[in-house]
Amino acid sequence: MNYYEFQALKHKQKKICKECGKEMLLDDIDYRFKGCFDNYFICENCQTSCIEEIRFNQSYKEHWHSENNNVAKDYVIKHKIEIKK
Ligand SMILES: [Zn+2]
Repeated sequence: MNYYEFQALKHKQKKICKECGKEMLLDDIDYRFKGCFDNYFICENCQTSCIEEIRFNQSYKEHWHSENNNVAKDYVIKHKIEIKK
C-alpha cells in the first residue's frame, strides 16, 4: 500500500466516542494486509480511546478504555462479521 492509498483508507475510518458523542481522532492505523488492520482512535474531548480491529473489511472488535469521573471503564464490543467466499 502506498502513501496515497493509506491516506485514503485513513480518511474513511470514523468513530464516534461512546462516552461523550464527539467524533474521535484517528491516531494511527496498524495495517497488516488488505481488509485487515487496527484503527487507533482517541477522543480529544474526554481522552477515551478505542482500538478497532477490522477483519474482512468489517469492524470486528472494539476495545474501549475511558477514565471519566474517576471511573475506569474497559470493555470490548464484538461484531459479527460476514465472510464472503
Ligand atoms: Zn469522548
